[in-house]
Amino acid sequence: MNKDHKSIDKKYLWHPFTQMKDWVENDIIVIERGEGSYLIDTEGKRYIDGVSSLWCNVHGHRKKELDQAISSQLDKIAHSTFLGLSNVPAVELAEKLIAIAPRGLSRVFYSDSGASAVEVAIKMAYQYWHQKEGKNTKKKKLLHLTNSYHGDTLGSVSVGGIELFHKVYHSLLFDTISTAAPYCYRCPFGKEETACGKECIEALREKVKKHKNELAALVIEPVMLGAAGMLKQPEGFITAAREVTREHNVLLICDEVATGFGRTGTMFACDTEGITPDLMAVGKGITGGYLPLSATLATEEIFNGFLGEYEELKTFYHGHTYSGNPLAAAVACANLDLFGKEKILETLRSKIELMTKRLDTLKDLDHVGDIRQAGFMVGIELVQDKRTKQNFPFEERIGHNVILKARERNVMIRPLGDVIILMPPLSIEEAVLEELIDVVKWAIERVMGQG
Ligand SMILES: *Cc1c(COP(=O)(O)O)cnc(C)c1O
Repeated sequence: MNKDHKSIDKKYLWHPFTQMKDWVENDIIVIERGEGSYLIDTEGKRYIDGVSSLWCNVHGHRKKELDQAISSQLDKIAHSTFLGLSNVPAVELAEKLIAIAPRGLSRVFYSDSGASAVEVAIKMAYQYWHQKEGKNTKKKKLLHLTNSYHGDTLGSVSVGGIELFHKVYHSLLFDTISTAAPYCYRCPFGKEETACGKECIEALREKVKKHKNELAALVIEPVMLGAAGMLKQPEGFITAAREVTREHNVLLICDEVATGFGRTGTMFACDTEGITPDLMAVGKGITGGYLPLSATLATEEIFNGFLGEYEELKTFYHGHTYSGNPLAAAVACANLDLFGKEKILETLRSKIELMTKRLDTLKDLDHVGDIRQAGFMVGIELVQDKRTKQNFPFEERIGHNVILKARERNVMIRPLGDVIILMPPLSIEEAVLEELIDVVKWAIERVMGQG
């Protein structure tokens, strides 16, 4: 039966982060298939998947080894519970994760979304102090960066700082402490990049020091704040975060949901400065972008803090129906194997350089204010006036207009406000990568009426 998926969608569905009034009034795209770096819709049109299907695809679509891993696992079992029971792929994945994780992380707790993995880290940090220092402990608060994004469940929103998404839920959230996120293009300390004295690092150190007695943990997205519009931290930021938290007895939670699995050029963003957090959340790329799975990695010190006699109630009372799902774990194992087999991080280096070089051709466009890159994570900030860095009016939806333009030339991307995001699969071919960037340049020029 040849169904009209577009009208059925509009009749029954409610899409995430989507104004449904716009959605039902406009033409929509329904994806039917994928192939390598391409998405193919129900009308047979092919698009470059320029944001890795929301930052998670690694090796492209229909990757033989990943397809195979799922069908082999299907021949055995699709799902069994992880509550009081174990399963083969989830065990094997844990060993593989610990082998590549920053040294010192030694335990894996599974969930099924990035937001849940962060919530788990928050609850673990909180309960850790409760059990270590007793119920009268003052160490109950979380410190986070302004502009940060850790997912959309309420605990994760509490440590988030994106006004547009989070403001309305304010009274549902728990109380936190925040410190200024680095945003070098619009430095919160009013510094030009050339005069930077790393004031944001100093401010972070001061905040931790000042609140050390009430802080359970500091939560950060290491190296690059993703959803904030790709805000890159100055070198030394995560090292300072590690040092100051260790010095003042505060746990460090790194949210590597976006940055993990090669995205910034190293396996984890923490590796760029060789730090190990106490807790680390991973998601998105963990299954190569195939199935929903996430994990919270912990040190043995944290893990040991939950051991005790049954009646001491030190159990971590948290879990999800699909925790440790065998199908997702099986494809995650195959994903990690490919990193070794195809030398992904090695081959990525020249692609990152190519990307940097090609992005340079956008720098002189009238409305390109700033280009921020960490490996295969890129944000291009568009401004109305380059000299004053004045933004476009919100209602003009410039970023949105640019991505719609890019679709005309078969590029599928998604902006964050007026920041154009590029985050292609790590496997993208060099020629396709060049095409992606060239089309984005063309789309920006067209929308700005320059050509
Ligand atoms: C996407 C993202 C999350 C949330 O992950 P979901 O799987 O969408 O819940 C959390 N933290 C960061 C840094 C992210 O980019």
